[in-house]
Amino acid sequence: MIPVQGVKNKSVLVLGMGCSGVASAKALLAGGAKVFCWDDDEAGRLAAEENGFLCMDPIRDGLEGLELIITSPGIPHLYPRPHLVIAEAMRLGIPVDNDIGLFFCSLGTPEWQTFDVAPKVVAITGSNGKSTTSALINHLLTKAGKPSQIAGNIGRSALDLEPAGDGEVIVLELSSYQTELARSLTPDIAVFTNLSNDHLDRHGGYGGYFAAKRRLFSEGSPDYAVIGVDETEGRYLASQFAEHANDDRVIRVISGQNPKGNGWQVAAKKGFLSESRKGRQVASIDLRRISSLPGKHNHQNACAAYAVLRTLNIAPRIIEEGFKSFSSLPHRSQLVREINGVRFINDSKATNVDAAEKALGSFENIHWICGGVQKEGDFLALNAMMHHVKKAYIIGSEADKFALNLEIESKICKTMAAAVNVAFSQSVPGDIVLLAPAAASFDQYDNFEARGDDFIAEVSALT
Ligand code: ADP
Repeated sequence: MIPVQGVKNKSVLVLGMGCSGVASAKALLAGGAKVFCWDDDEAGRLAAEENGFLCMDPIRDGLEGLELIITSPGIPHLYPRPHLVIAEAMRLGIPVDNDIGLFFCSLGTPEWQTFDVAPKVVAITGSNGKSTTSALINHLLTKAGKPSQIAGNIGRSALDLEPAGDGEVIVLELSSYQTELARSLTPDIAVFTNLSNDHLDRHGGYGGYFAAKRRLFSEGSPDYAVIGVDETEGRYLASQFAEHANDDRVIRVISGQNPKGNGWQVAAKKGFLSESRKGRQVASIDLRRISSLPGKHNHQNACAAYAVLRTLNIAPRIIEEGFKSFSSLPHRSQLVREINGVRFINDSKATNVDAAEKALGSFENIHWICGGVQKEGDFLALNAMMHHVKKAYIIGSEADKFALNLEIESKICKTMAAAVNVAFSQSVPGDIVLLAPAAASFDQYDNFEARGDDFIAEVSALT
C-alpha cells in the first residue's frame, strides 16, 4: 500500500466503497487522516465496516468539518449531473479528488534519494486498448528484466501498489473518469491509444471526453508522450505537445500507413511493426506471428507498448521476444477453444461499436454474436465489416432494435445459450464464432466479464 502524504489529521470522506474506495480509505488512514466512508448502496457500506471504517451519511449529516472528498470513478462528478454530495462539496469549496490524484502526490518518498534509478510511471489512456496495452507493457518490462507493477482501471487501485522500488516502473491504466478528476496527474510517460464514441453522457459530449483524456498530457508534462495519431484528436494532441516536427519527446503511433516526416514514429502496416527516427527505419518486427495479438487494433496496441519500452531504452529484439510470450487478456480476442475446426473467440469487452468493428476486421467467416444495451456509436462502420460475417446472432433485451441496424442476415436468439448453439450448428470447419457484442451487458449480466464467462460456459457445454 502507498500511504497518502499530506493528509495527517485531515478529515476526509471517501465516497463509494468499491475497489478504489476501500484502497483509498486504507491508504488515507495509513497517512494519518481521519477517514469517514459512505456508499449509497448498503453493500458498499458493509464493505467499509468490514474493513473497520466508520460510515457517515453525508446527505443527512452534512459536510461540515470535512477537508477533502475522495470519490470513485463510477460516481458522476460533473455530467450528466454531479452526485449530490459532490455538488454540495463544490458549493462549500471542499476539494474533490480520487485515488489517482492521491497516488501521484504520494508516490515519491525521501527513500528515492538513495535509489540508483528513480522509479517511473507509465500512464495509459484512450477509448479502446488501454487494458491490453497496459498488460502488454507490464509483460514486456518483466521479460526485459525490469521490475514493474500494474494497477489503475485494470482492477487494482493505484494506492494498493507496493511503494515503488529502485528502478521500478509503475504501469497505470486510466479511464477518462479518472483522468478528468485527478488533481495531480504527473506520469513520466503518457500514452493515448485512440479515440471513439464512449461514455459521452459522463463528459458532456465528445469534446469533453477528449478533454478528460488530454489532461494526462497537459497537467503533468510527461517526459515522453506516446500518441495514436489515426484520429484528428491524436494528431492535435501530438502537435500540441511537440516543440517542433522532430521533437523526440513525442512518439507517434500509426496504423495502416508508412511513417511520414522525420519525427519518432512506430507504425503497423500489413502486420509489420516498424520504428523510424529522423526519416529512417531503425527496427521492424513481424507481428503476424504473435497469435495473442490478432488484428490491426492489437497491432496498434503492440506499437504503443513497443514505443513505451523504447523510451526506457529497451532494445527492439528484447521487445520482440517479449511479444512472443504474451497471453491475451480474458474477454479480449480470447481464443476459448476449437471444436471440429470451428474456433470460438470471446471479445466480450467489445462493449462499443469501435471495438466490435476492430474485432470483426480481425477474422473471416464469422458467426457473430452481438447485442445488449446499445451505446452511442456509428453502425455504418460496423456494417462496413459485414463482408467478414456470415450471419449475426443477436442477444439481449433490445435484440429486435439491434437487428434493424444491421445490414446482414441475422437471427434473434435473446440468450447466450441459444446464440452459441445455433451459431455452432450453422458453422463449418474454418469458421469463427465470435462474441463481440458492440453493446453493454447490463440488461442480462452484471458486467462484461460475466457475459464472457457465460459464453465460455456455453461453449464448454457443446462438447
Ligand atoms: P480498454 O481497457 O480501453 O477497454 P481493452 O484492451 O480492454 O481496452 O479492449 C477493449 C475492447 O476493445 C476489446 O474488445 C478489444 O478487442 C478492443 N480493442 C483492443 N485494442 C483496441 C484498439 N487499439 N482499437 C480498437 N479496439 C481495441
